[in-house]
Amino acid sequence: MKILGIETSCDETSAAVVTGEREILSNIVRSQVKEHSVYGGVVPEIASRAHIEFLDGIILRALSEAKLRLDEIDGIAVTAGPGLIGGLIVGVMEAKALASALGKPFIAVNHLEGHALTARLTDDVAFPYLLLLVSGGHCQILHVGGVGKYELLGETLDDAVGESFDKLAKMLGLGIPGGPQVEKMARGGNAQAFDLPNPLQGRKGCDFSFSGLKTAVKKIVDEGKHTPSDICATFQHKIREILLERLRNALEISPAQRVVIAGGVAANLYLREGFQALAAEKNIRISCPPVALCTDNAAMIAWAGVEKLRLGQADGLDFKPRARWPLVG
Ligand code: AMP
Ligand code: MG
Repeated sequence: MKILGIETSCDETSAAVVTGEREILSNIVRSQVKEHSVYGGVVPEIASRAHIEFLDGIILRALSEAKLRLDEIDGIAVTAGPGLIGGLIVGVMEAKALASALGKPFIAVNHLEGHALTARLTDDVAFPYLLLLVSGGHCQILHVGGVGKYELLGETLDDAVGESFDKLAKMLGLGIPGGPQVEKMARGGNAQAFDLPNPLQGRKGCDFSFSGLKTAVKKIVDEGKHTPSDICATFQHKIREILLERLRNALEISPAQRVVIAGGVAANLYLREGFQALAAEKNIRISCPPVALCTDNAAMIAWAGVEKLRLGQADGLDFKPRARWPLVG
């Protein structure tokens, strides 16, 4: 089975071809950072227009790199939500047009499900597993029982992790995307430079809270007494402590002793080191997909398409893109 995946939910235009044998034949990603950086964040209208301009060419490149013609594809999978509605409409319309012209299945993929299943593509992870989903809009721990079988164990009560990285980058004027800038700035900084709060420390369960951390960091930045690299290192270290504490709680309450980390923030190497230390301590396996498959990409969407199509879960051409589409509930 060969599935063409399309991703246009935010500021990456991407197309990929993935097989049922877990091979990524191509994965072309065009970032729009240049278009948005002067505005300090993603401008939805600019994003939609850039998707329209580049998507056709990117699909052709994905096919040519995979050495396949369109009629050799067995289905078209596309991110149908959650995300910026303009971008989602561009991708979904394209996928529907291709599916309809080729007479092939159309598969509407939840972007979060794409992240959730990526470790099955890269590491062949079997169900069930615990998933820590850390992205620009989410911070959740889920029990993954199968395709479409997600149970929420806990989530953030306020900011998402990626969002807090982005806000710190903005406070320090580091540019976008914030997460990688903070990670870079943290190198060589002192991770113990000052005390930061962990509002839910010692509490049972898997909920998160990051807004107190943001306020504390803002106060330090405003006082102007610390170097940006110390602030970034301490902040990143505290985030790692919070994520690890919550994962420990999840491992205590869940029978699944296999862990997967996914979402853009999973690209952070300092956090990944922490996950691997926890894995060694608990004698379990923790999988983080390769960095390029943590941030937005169409390979994960194509793979979710493979998983869904195998279960006969194609969608009708009347499927409407959803700006909001929680994985659970
Ligand atoms: P996503 O929502 O899955 O597209 O991921 C995007 C989010 O991940 C943004 O908030 C980024 O700032 C964050 N992110 C990406 N790379 C890193 C990194 N190396 N460290 C921390 N956060 C990151
Ligand atoms: Mg994402």
